[in-house]
Amino acid sequence: MENNSVFAMALDQLNSAAKLLKLDANTLRVLSHPERSLTVAVPVVMDDGRIEVFEGHRVQHSSARGPCKGGIRFHQDVTLDEVKALAMWMTWKCAVVNIPYGGAKGGVCVDPTKMSKREVRHLTRRFTVAIMPIIGSHSDIPAPDVNTSSETMGYIMDTVSMIKGSTVLDIVTGKAIDLGGSLGRREATGRGVMFNTLELLKRLNKSPKECTVAVQGFGNVGSVSADLLQKEGCKIIAVSDVSGGYYNPDGLPIKDMINYCAQSNNHILEGFNASGVSKISNAELFELDVDVLVPAALEKQIHGKNADKIKAFAIVEGANGPTTPEAEKILTDKGKYVVPDILANSGGVVVSYFEWVQSIQSFFWTEDEVNDNLKRVIVNAFASVWDMAQKEKHDMRNAATMIAVLRVARAIEARGIWP
Ligand code: NAD
Repeated sequence: MENNSVFAMALDQLNSAAKLLKLDANTLRVLSHPERSLTVAVPVVMDDGRIEVFEGHRVQHSSARGPCKGGIRFHQDVTLDEVKALAMWMTWKCAVVNIPYGGAKGGVCVDPTKMSKREVRHLTRRFTVAIMPIIGSHSDIPAPDVNTSSETMGYIMDTVSMIKGSTVLDIVTGKAIDLGGSLGRREATGRGVMFNTLELLKRLNKSPKECTVAVQGFGNVGSVSADLLQKEGCKIIAVSDVSGGYYNPDGLPIKDMINYCAQSNNHILEGFNASGVSKISNAELFELDVDVLVPAALEKQIHGKNADKIKAFAIVEGANGPTTPEAEKILTDKGKYVVPDILANSGGVVVSYFEWVQSIQSFFWTEDEVNDNLKRVIVNAFASVWDMAQKEKHDMRNAATMIAVLRVARAIEARGIWP
């Protein structure tokens, strides 16, 4: 299967797990449809006085196990199809790490890098009001995703608070610390990628110190993954972002690159230079002779045409949906390990859950408490997926999806179909 629909890819993964589980056909039918999809028009008065109208979506895939949870993405390629897939993956992600949430996702089809700060703020506030009928502290809680950040979450929280007439801390996660955010949330997804990578290396009797790593995407997930893996002893020899790839076989100065991005226009690596660093293309990054590859940008980056060229023995999916089913078959047939997105990048939603709990209680944890609890959750989830994959001879995506689907199916069956 290699068509353009991301939701078709998510359904393909669900059907594969359901077949292995011999899942009841009625439950599969329920799980194959998002519970609710809302498409909205978002008019914004641009700086030059023109009114632009952007299309946005919020999709809730399943609330069977708890309130829906998922990020909001601002990107020029956002479609309802993509948001539906991302919402379904959120359901599995929350279930595989066993936190009491269902899955949701949101997105606006817009390129925010071409807009002023004021335009992005107005876009965010108007989109928030447009989806307010379906989001809520105990029904659907947004978070950051591609091109959104703690600043965006602050605008959402403020918009909801102004309209409700009182401060609502638990409406979003990924907020700034000054607004009731959680210590460790910004780094949580990358930290989870690091924990997952270390757990895999341990199972394969490899030391991080003997491993080289390439990371595609140098935003929140990619940069923190690279930084923390380097701190664990891995040699990060290539990273890339929209400006292309940066390569040094002796290892890249990740901290300097993060500092460079913090100061640069649109937070990208364009123009970065350091001794021993050469430019490569994003395509070349995938083909490098590395041990671990971390795709941490967008969907479908590893596909039927480049999967065969990947030399890494482990692919740890920092991004959502970076590997197509066709590519995954090529990789697993060659004996490579793919740590699936719903497990590999679950650190973000796990600490979002911790942030939500802290916001509800107005009682805040130390960073060590957050990181220790995150590690406990990821190490346990990795072990259950790994053990199932080994015992029943499944690849890790099927094992992770099977564990998740079974948990959601049990909740649906226990609740029954209303009325
Ligand atoms: P971000 O906006 O902070 O960073 C995205 C990065 O990808 C940027 O460096 C951008 O330049 C780069 N990029 C975009 N297109 C690219 C391309 N074609 N080639 C190379 N690089 C490209 O976004 P993020 O929050 O880091 O999210 C990245 C991925 O991780 C997404 O798939 C997202 O859904 C997923 N994810 C994010 C979180 C989170 O907590 N932020 C949690 C789970 C999963």
